[in-house]
Amino acid sequence: MTSPKITAALAGNPNSGKTTLFNALTGARQHVGNYPGVTVEKKEGVAKIQDREIHIVDLPGAYSLTSYTPEELVARNMVLDERPDVVIDVLNAAALERNLYLAVQFMELGVPVVLVLNMMDEVRAAGMTIDKAKLSRLINAPVVETVAKHGVGKEELLRQAMELAKQQDGTWKPLNISYGPDLDHALKDMVALIQESDFLTHRYPAQWLALKYLEGDEEVLEIGRTEGTLHDKLQEIVDNVSDHCQKTLSTYPEALIADYRYGYIASILKQGVLTRDTTHDRIARSDRMDKVLTHKMGGPLIMLLILYAIYKFTFSVGDIPLVWLSEFFDFLGHSVENAMPAGMLRSMLVSGVIDGVGGVLSFAPLIMIMFLLIAFLEDSGYMARVAYMMDRVFRIFGLHGCSVMPMIVSGGIAGGCAVPGVMAARTLRSPREKLATILTAPFMTCGAKLPVYILLVGVFFPKNEPTALFAITLTAWAIALLVAKALRSTLVRGPSTPFVMELPPYRLPTAKGLIIHTWERTWQFIKKAGTVILAISILLWAAMTFPRPSSQEARDIQSSIKVQEALLSQAEGGQVRLNQEKTEQLKAQVEALHGKFDQLALQNSVAGRVGVALESISRYAGFDWRLNISLIGGFAAKEVIISTLGTAYSLSEEQTSEEATLAKRLRQNPNMTRATAVAAILFIMLYSPCFVTVVTIKQETGTWRWAAFSMIFNTALAAALAVAAYQIGATLA
Ligand code: GDP
Ligand code: MG
Repeated sequence: MTSPKITAALAGNPNSGKTTLFNALTGARQHVGNYPGVTVEKKEGVAKIQDREIHIVDLPGAYSLTSYTPEELVARNMVLDERPDVVIDVLNAAALERNLYLAVQFMELGVPVVLVLNMMDEVRAAGMTIDKAKLSRLINAPVVETVAKHGVGKEELLRQAMELAKQQDGTWKPLNISYGPDLDHALKDMVALIQESDFLTHRYPAQWLALKYLEGDEEVLEIGRTEGTLHDKLQEIVDNVSDHCQKTLSTYPEALIADYRYGYIASILKQGVLTRDTTHDRIARSDRMDKVLTHKMGGPLIMLLILYAIYKFTFSVGDIPLVWLSEFFDFLGHSVENAMPAGMLRSMLVSGVIDGVGGVLSFAPLIMIMFLLIAFLEDSGYMARVAYMMDRVFRIFGLHGCSVMPMIVSGGIAGGCAVPGVMAARTLRSPREKLATILTAPFMTCGAKLPVYILLVGVFFPKNEPTALFAITLTAWAIALLVAKALRSTLVRGPSTPFVMELPPYRLPTAKGLIIHTWERTWQFIKKAGTVILAISILLWAAMTFPRPSSQEARDIQSSIKVQEALLSQAEGGQVRLNQEKTEQLKAQVEALHGKFDQLALQNSVAGRVGVALESISRYAGFDWRLNISLIGGFAAKEVIISTLGTAYSLSEEQTSEEATLAKRLRQNPNMTRATAVAAILFIMLYSPCFVTVVTIKQETGTWRWAAFSMIFNTALAAALAVAAYQIGATLA
């Protein structure tokens, strides 16, 4: 029975070039959706060869077919449920040995596999040769060479896939490799039991099921448990072998199975399939570099130096455009002020739009520089080494080496953003470690919190700014690690997974790659300022403006403003004679009245009333109503804290003078002390992630539960520490 249409599943390790190949094969004939029930993307498309169509499904990238990660489960279940005619396994041929690991598992499942040796250009550049024919013969599968980036080899691939599909015609022939005397023996017994009772054999090969039992595969075990006695018998065999492995080799079956799979691959490659030209071998050079860069003692030291250099460089260079842009937005605000008549629209444009969005956009160049440097570390392969070195420390706290990237992107060095940071946690294989990372990464110093810290430190610790900022960074890391540890020993308990991320050979990043990576992230930031933050700024402006005050006092002030302004304009028009001194005095009076009215208006507004109401709680941390308003605004986006504080202080000043900056006003406020500043910094560091981050947490964890948790838990923790800090600080002072 030939199916009229051929279905091929495109599989492979992450970064093997799957997506590139998928696009080359299917062109514009694509459809993107989601796998049901999970947040894993499902891409489908159609490739044409000799007026026949091949339906292609792009599986999520996976290193293995265990059930450690949703991607692996999705890939495996798609193959089991939909039984594609062939699996096209895309290999990064430059790392053939590791990439074949997944291929072998597909073969153990029995589905027909075409092996794609992708990145052949890199293989050649590295001076390696792969004997394609020999590999094909030894591994018993068609092998095709491609350079997906340039579309080389795609016709040959489609032809081979078509050929194999016809030849196999829906029959699966599982590959059985030897797992050594102990396991082979147990496997044989288990296979007999499974076949006897016909357990799931319509779906899985018996040997494969037995292997999954030995590997402790959660999904298979769960189905097995409903089987009663069979499950108990299988489990008994597994327990015996596990015991035996532990005694004789002090290891467990899962590790042994992996060893034998690699052994099988190595034995094939050693028979002249893979030869290396060692004269210009990138791998060897990379190894020599790693001797220094990942040295037990020297490595971390170099890492700290590099991170510090990034920090220094970003701020020394990034400060220049930051100043330019701030001045530009300042100028824009003043221009609008002069060009438009006073009123609600002008107030909204200046205070809401220009001050809010401009204050945020000013940071774009600084953040771009930071992202450029980070992209360099990533593209060169150094970031993988950072993860590798940090893994030793992170493991103690229930995290993983791959947690480093999310933390750094969130602002671990300073000036990141938790939104891409939380998304970067996708590289984590274990859902528990991923969750702990996602929940703690928002403690880092993002680009929005940074200006608030700089402001507060500058005002209250003017002589020790760098030290104070360094201390803030260390505190954020310390709390993140401690909270991770607490979570991993309570709510997200479970074993830690081994560090499996490969250390790719170092390479010199290309300018194009750096530009693209930098721009992608910077654009995300700018887009956020133009959309979310714009909307929030306007909303907050309205909350700080309405309802307008209507008390007797407010009306009195307004009418005296009117009278005095009328007098002033008459003086200017020449109808009334006033001397210089008198005019100045009158002008100052009008200003003061405006200030007084604005203060009344702010306190009367929705935001003002909420801020004042919250003072009954927040005073334990020393926060006044103005700080309260900004912190509420900060939930919408942390960028808003500083602009709201600026607006609140400028609106509530009785005596408005041109040069009064926010820093000066804070310094003059007798209620703001060092203790308040420390409490505020701690609170801002820890309290609920901003709205966009919360939504991202929901997307990445798949449930609102953890998003809600991060809001409530973080705010409670922040409040507790802020109150403690303030109370201690106030006692000491
Ligand atoms: P995926 O994670 O498997 O989907 O991998 P992608 O398709 O996103 O490719 C990862 C990277 O490898 C991208 O930067 C591609 O441009 C690059 N790439 C893909 N195919 C080739 C190739 O044949 N040669 C080289 N040198 N690079 C490639
Ligand atoms: Mg991809």
